[in-house]
Amino acid sequence: MKVVNLRKEGWKREPELVRIKNRGQGLESKFAQSVLEIIENVRNYGDSAVFSYAKKFDKVDLTPENVKVSDKEVEEAFKKVPKEVVEALKFAVERVEKFHQHQKENSYFVTEPGIVLGQKVTPLEKVGVYVPGGKAAYPSSVVMNVVPAKVAGVERVVMITPAVGSLEINPYTLVAAKLSGVDEIYRVGGAHGVAAIAFGTETIPKVDKIVGPGNIFVALAKKFLFGTVDIDMVAGPSEILVIADETANPDWVATDLLSQAEHDELAGAFLVTHDNRIAEETVKAVHEKLKRLKRKEIAEKSIENFGTVFLTRDVYHSCQVANEIAPEHLEVATKEPFALLDYIKHAGAIFLGHHTCESLGDYVLGPNHVLPTGGSARFFSPLGVYDFVKRSSVLYVSQEGFNRVSGPARELAECEGLEAHRLAVEVREAIKLVAKSLE
Ligand code: NAD
Repeated sequence: MKVVNLRKEGWKREPELVRIKNRGQGLESKFAQSVLEIIENVRNYGDSAVFSYAKKFDKVDLTPENVKVSDKEVEEAFKKVPKEVVEALKFAVERVEKFHQHQKENSYFVTEPGIVLGQKVTPLEKVGVYVPGGKAAYPSSVVMNVVPAKVAGVERVVMITPAVGSLEINPYTLVAAKLSGVDEIYRVGGAHGVAAIAFGTETIPKVDKIVGPGNIFVALAKKFLFGTVDIDMVAGPSEILVIADETANPDWVATDLLSQAEHDELAGAFLVTHDNRIAEETVKAVHEKLKRLKRKEIAEKSIENFGTVFLTRDVYHSCQVANEIAPEHLEVATKEPFALLDYIKHAGAIFLGHHTCESLGDYVLGPNHVLPTGGSARFFSPLGVYDFVKRSSVLYVSQEGFNRVSGPARELAECEGLEAHRLAVEVREAIKLVAKSLE
């Protein structure tokens, strides 16, 4: 791990900090052209393009008859998954659902004499959830993406996940889908799968919004299709930042850093501390534990690319550094973590205290684990129920209400030179004048 001293004037310009702040940029250039081509072909040729990409990238023969996962396959999956895992998934679904119930938004109306104004909240009708299928199974991602949609009241949740090498879909994914409330599942993935649910094909339904993580091809397809559908966010490699003081346990901090590093060669693992002993012992523990990790190769590269310790003046300076980096996950491993909450402005999820390791939040605590990466925690929020609803304004005026607001509206229409706008007000004023003259 690199160790960088920020105890100096102009620390914000320190090159390593600047490099890490810019980590979310430059995602697309290399694959943009091929993803745009895939999108175009799926738009023009529907199923036949989707099936031929599935053959090319995933070595599977998809047909209109087999692309949809049957109820029987889902039932069979329950027999293949150990009971303890089914129970753990049920536990996770229950807790995630309970937490997300608090995010439900109600319609509201305000009244004043002759006027009623409001906002009507409506769930999206059809949502597509992408579940990665290439290299590993992510049942927890299924839970985190589907449950908030269902809590929001989405009628139809369509899941897509690639079948790779054979038609079989990972049974853990299928069980998680069933327990979370997915309505239908299609065994397609990659950029072509994303394009299929964005446009709809002969066999795959079109949705209104696509959520869920995926590799670079999936992320780019979502980005390019934004506008045709809504998307959640463009997720980059995962990252953790730990703020530690002298009360932190270097062994615990090291494992938490590695729990991100094992995700991806480009994952970020940052320690920010004012305590030299904690810095030294954590770095030592990271390198020792690395040797024994199953995903050693990935974690090693990740630590080499984005494993940095920043030395600060005090715990408040550590918060400032964390705000500069705006990490996806922020652990506050200090004596009084709640006291620092006011100083933290930019982080996807904030884990307070020594026992609150990120893994608990990843799986079972309840808040969503789909979080903004690459510094986008400056302006994005975790995935939530609010991502699966939309709002419509509601407006009503009676004759009385009209009389109260028509004058200024007429004036503004006049000043903007929009004649029909002005006339729309005046024709109604004319009725009022006629009525008055008949009195
Ligand atoms: P994936 O399903 O995202 O992608 C695999 C598919 O990509 C393949 O099935 C194929 O259809 C397509 N593909 C492969 N090569 C291609 C090419 N050359 N051109 C076009 N398409 C091609 O699964 P994955 O590859 O395992 O990636 C999963 C990603 O999701 C990882 O980066 C992982 O870290 C990330 N992830 C993130 C979270 C999170 O919450 N942030 C959770 C789970 C997974």
